[in-house]
Amino acid sequence: MVEFLGPLSGFGVTFRTMFAKPNTEFYPEEKTPTAPGFHGRHQLNRYPDGLEKCIGCELCAWACPADAIYVEGADNTEAERYSPGERYGRVYQINYLRCIGCGLCIEACPTRALTMTDDYEMVDDNRAGLIYEKDRLLAPLEPGMTEPPHPMQPGSTDKDYYLGTVRPDAEDPTPEDPTQEEPAPEDGSHA
Ligand code: SF4
Ligand code: SF4
Repeated sequence: MVEFLGPLSGFGVTFRTMFAKPNTEFYPEEKTPTAPGFHGRHQLNRYPDGLEKCIGCELCAWACPADAIYVEGADNTEAERYSPGERYGRVYQINYLRCIGCGLCIEACPTRALTMTDDYEMVDDNRAGLIYEKDRLLAPLEPGMTEPPHPMQPGSTDKDYYLGTVRPDAEDPTPEDPTQEEPAPEDGSHA
């Protein structure tokens, strides 16, 4: 008797599903917005004048439990400067075959150089294609930014950059209104 009821209950599931509301996702034609704070592709951020925030300290690589990050720092010089201060990230790689999206790396970053975006479309058909380097991780240049290498803003120090008091490298800087608060940096990403 039990053997007879088993298949019947299975058909019952099929029958109920035939009348249930379809739950079809039409990806990639229709994309569902990600949840707030989604851990997607990483981004290496810039200061408002285009200099890179990464100082090549490797803290993100040491924090990564999956050993997915490889960093090689190098010295800035006055003739060739990529970031404020002494060092910059000359080589920066994230291996998305290893990354588990935990976000520990962005917590470890002392300059907020590294954040994560909503981009989850990281696919390829070979291993090398999923090792992202600076060309795919660096934030795009926004208006007022200049591609490094270039000097720091005249009269500013690396501390001014860290404190967020450096303005974009615009042609016609508008005089600062002391009654206005400094706007929050917009790096197009989130922690
Ligand atoms: S999100 Fe996690 S696994 Fe991925 S690179 Fe960062 S620390 Fe490593
Ligand atoms: S991303 Fe942040 S933690 Fe990683 S090397 Fe650059 S500055 Fe250091």
